[in-house]
Amino acid sequence: MKILDELLWPNKPGPGAGKMPVLFLGHGSPLNAVEDNEFSSGWRDAIKNIEKPSAILCISAHWETRGTHITAMEKPRTIHDFGGFPEELYNVQYPAPGDPLLAKAIQGILSGTDAGLDEKWGLDHGCWSVVKHMYPEADIPVLQLSLDYYADARRHYELAAELAVLRKKGVLIIGSGNMVHNLGMVAWQRLNETYGFDWALEAGEKMKKYILSGSHDQLINYTTLGKSFDLAIPTPEHYLPMLYVLALQDKNDRITLFNDKTVGGSISMTCIRIDSV
Ligand code: ZN
Repeated sequence: MKILDELLWPNKPGPGAGKMPVLFLGHGSPLNAVEDNEFSSGWRDAIKNIEKPSAILCISAHWETRGTHITAMEKPRTIHDFGGFPEELYNVQYPAPGDPLLAKAIQGILSGTDAGLDEKWGLDHGCWSVVKHMYPEADIPVLQLSLDYYADARRHYELAAELAVLRKKGVLIIGSGNMVHNLGMVAWQRLNETYGFDWALEAGEKMKKYILSGSHDQLINYTTLGKSFDLAIPTPEHYLPMLYVLALQDKNDRITLFNDKTVGGSISMTCIRIDSV
């Protein structure tokens, strides 16, 4: 680990010399990737005063695996993991490089997990649909960390906390999902409207209250929080990336919300930014 550390970060600031923010981004419809709208504009604004990262590590709702894996290829492909959208979306390429050495370092950081190095995945739309707005030049290495389908929420949270050291190494960690996400109940004709069903708004408000008060245990135990949470999180993959981000919050960090809207009845676009102060 020490040798890797020197290889990877010889000129980067050492511990305590500044911490990168952490972001949770509500990505919503894949169309947001090619639209210039209030959400993509919010993502762009979010990085305006963040120094250029040495790398980006994305935990996307759209990569679930058995065990935890880290993309480790030199050139990750752009994955178009959706169906039925306009051709424009399938033509998008986000040719950011990978960083195999950093992938190996992250594997070492995750001491409680036997994480695998992946050569097959790439960048799925949970990642590139947001990152391309923020870093259109695609000149920063981008890695993805998968969600272990078989791990419970607390396990995800604990695993994520181990990534904290990366904040001091110039790595921007991004969780990409949607904290309220029920595709089966989307009011498709209202997808472009700010509109939330009562249960979606209720769950969203409670989540925000827990987020802003640092009540992470409640958010980890989301399956015990009643009907609105059951409807808001019918499957956990869009919710879990948020727990990764919260696990990286230090006691004195400032936490802010943006893009705080619900669309299509059952999808919350709310984003979180965590900054050291
Ligand atoms: Zn999604």
